[in-house]
Formats: sequence, C-alpha cells, structure tokens
Amino acid sequence: MSELLSVDIALDRILGDMNRLPVQETTLDGAYGRTLAEDIVARHDIPSFANSSMDGFAVRSDDVASATPESPIALTVSMDIPAGSAPDRAVRQGEAARIMTGAPIPDGADAVVPVEQTDVNWRDTAHAPLSDRVQIYKAATRGANVRYPGEDVRSGQRVLLAGTRIRPAEIGVLAGLGFAHVACVRPPRVAILSGGDELLAPDEPLAPGKIRDMNSYALAALVQENGGIPVRIPTAKDDLDDIRLRFHEALAAQPDIIISSAGVSVGTADLIRIVLEEMGSVGFWKINLRPGKPLAYGNLGGIPFFGLPGNPVSAMITFDVFVRPCLLKLLGAHDLTQTTEAMVGEDIRSDGRRTYARVKLSHENGKLVARTTGTQSSSAITSMVLADGLLIMPEGTTLATAGQTYPVRILR
Ligand code: AMP
Ligand code: MG
Repeated sequence: MSELLSVDIALDRILGDMNRLPVQETTLDGAYGRTLAEDIVARHDIPSFANSSMDGFAVRSDDVASATPESPIALTVSMDIPAGSAPDRAVRQGEAARIMTGAPIPDGADAVVPVEQTDVNWRDTAHAPLSDRVQIYKAATRGANVRYPGEDVRSGQRVLLAGTRIRPAEIGVLAGLGFAHVACVRPPRVAILSGGDELLAPDEPLAPGKIRDMNSYALAALVQENGGIPVRIPTAKDDLDDIRLRFHEALAAQPDIIISSAGVSVGTADLIRIVLEEMGSVGFWKINLRPGKPLAYGNLGGIPFFGLPGNPVSAMITFDVFVRPCLLKLLGAHDLTQTTEAMVGEDIRSDGRRTYARVKLSHENGKLVARTTGTQSSSAITSMVLADGLLIMPEGTTLATAGQTYPVRILR
C-alpha cells in the first residue's frame, strides 16, 4: 500500500507543468464552447432605453388612475410607436400612444396599459389602423409594463469573468453587448494515441483475438467535452519502430498534451518505456487509485505526456482525474464539475485505494441514493455508459456501507 503515490500529490506535480495558453480573438459565431480570456465589461445598459414589455398604450399613469371597466377613461391616440422606431414627441395630458413590445416609451408617458385592458381589439396588432380614441379599463401604476434602462445589465458592469466557458446564454449577452469578437483562450490541442496488436478500427471486421479501439475515440470525445481539440493518431502496433513512428506523428500534430493509452501496466510497459526514454522522459507511477493504478507521466519531445491505462474505464477515469484538470488549467477555465453527497444504497467494497465507483443516482424518500451500475470491472465500458456519477471512496476505505453518505462527482 505504502508504495502507491497519492492522487493529490500526483495531480499537484502534473499541474505544475501547465500554464494558460495564449489569447485568440474569436468571432462570436465560433465562440460557443470556448473559454473567455478576459473579463467582459458592459459598454452600455441592457436595455439601453426604457421600453414597453407589452403591446398596448403608453399613458400618463395620473390620467388613468381612476379607470375601471364600469367607468373607463377615454384618451386621444396621438401617435403610433412600432418596435424599432423613435418617438419624436411627448405624450401630453389626455393622450395615449399606441406602442409595441420593445418600442421606446415616449416622453411624458410613464406606464403602458396592455391592449387587453382597453376597448381596442387588434387582430393583427402591428398593422391595425390607428384609432383616434381609446377607452382604458384599468388603472396603471407608474412604471407598469415598462422595462427600464440597465434593468438587466448596467453599463460598466463586469458581466462575464475570464475563465467562463461560453454557453448559449453567454453568446446571447455578448451579442447583446456588441461583442462581435471575443478574446478566448486558444483551445489546447491533444494528440491521442492507442497502442496494441489486438486493436482494430471501428469499421474493421472482428478477427480472432482482436478487439476494437475504444479508447482513442472515447478520449477524443472527453477532450472535446473539456474544451480541447483532439487529434487522433493511428494505432501503434506493439513494435518499437511502429511506436516511434506514431509518437513522431503525435509530435507533428503540434499538441499541447499527448495522451496514449495502454502499455503502462507491469509486463506491458517495456516497449513504451524504451521509446519514451529515447524521445523524452517519463516516470511510471503506481497511483493510489481504482480504477487506474498505473500511470505514466512526463514529456515526449518536451510536450506533457500521459500514458493512461488500457482498460477503457481506467482510461476514462484517469483522464477525468488527471487530464481534465490540466485542460482546465491550460484554458484558465473555471471547473464546472459538480460534486454532491449521496447515500449509498447498497454496500460497495474496494481495496483501500481511492475508488471511483460508477453509480446510478435516484431520489428515494427525499434523499439522493447511489447504487452501483453493476459490474465495476475496469474493462466494462457499459459501467460508464450507465453511470450518472462517480462515487468517491477515500483512501483507506474498503467498505462503503449502505446508509452512509459519500461524495459523488456528477457526470450527468
Ligand atoms: P495493456 O495495458 O496494453 O495491457 O492493456 C490493458 C487492457 O486494455 C487490455 O485488455 C487491452 O486489450 C485493453 N485495451 C488497450 N487499449 C485499448 C483500446 N484502445 N481500446 C479498448 N481496449 C483497450
Ligand atoms: Mg497492450
């Protein structure tokens, strides 16, 4: 047990090698999923002018203070204000302006009476002819149905912080504030290698002793999910020259990180070790982690290199534990990962390594309950397919007893 390296110490060492990547100007159309390199400060209010939140009539609230359906107040309709227009005169006492949602509130008016609270019946509101008079059926308080400048965003406000992952709502606010270009962090390029004589591509027919390469595809998707650009390199055979060739190809892709899977466990590490010692320098670690004990880390031609375990679940979990935080650091990105606490619904056993158990989550009697997805074999990829989260059993724990509470890293 004592010779195993702690997850946290290993991660600290690795993160020490990662620095934020440079800034890249990005068009708004290309900004989805990217990470902001700088704070976004509003250049103007949103809304930038007082406007109506309803189709109706802009009025002076004092004029209609006593309006009821039984004794309506009649006003003279003095102008029409469609959205996009700018009223050129004020609403005076006894007057109303027909106004559409989003149109500017004219001077003099301080409230909007929705058309439904008048005698006017617009079928096609925008194109109905303007009537001369309108009967108001309901009092409107000052400010009713008016959206004031800066209600949503104030000029000078720091609306988005550097490190924010740009989602659809962030795109919306950037567009609304006139940012046609945004300073994003250059996405990390990640070269992904698979190795093993048994590996076939997904479109190759199965043959005796062969399996299809899952890791390079799953890892590429994980890279994308975490804001990076994956570059998959063709599979290396268990052959020194082929491994050399593929490692050179990986370097030619000009990556910020190189990930390979398989060939790091005892008994299989020799070929990889030889090539890594020629082309860089790598340590073979035994991590206090389950799944995912073997991990190689160092550099290949000066580029940070991860040798992840070959079993697909181990590859995905070691990615999550070690590579994902590196991508976030390269991006300067806030970690959006959510961890919750869940009650264990059934005993889960492990061997005292920090364990990431694949669990399904459900609500039972108002409590979040975690149950394993079934087999926890590190080769059973469906345990990841089924998992809502990873239940984390800390180092030294061999039994999570039903009823106890543990942290769970939410996967979905
Ligand atoms: P190794 O570390 O090379 O001994 O591989 C450990 C296990 O992971 C073996 O069962 C391999 O067949 C399997 N494995 C290695 N690479 C992949 C891959 N790219 N996709 C799916 N399984 C793999
Ligand atoms: Mg192998």
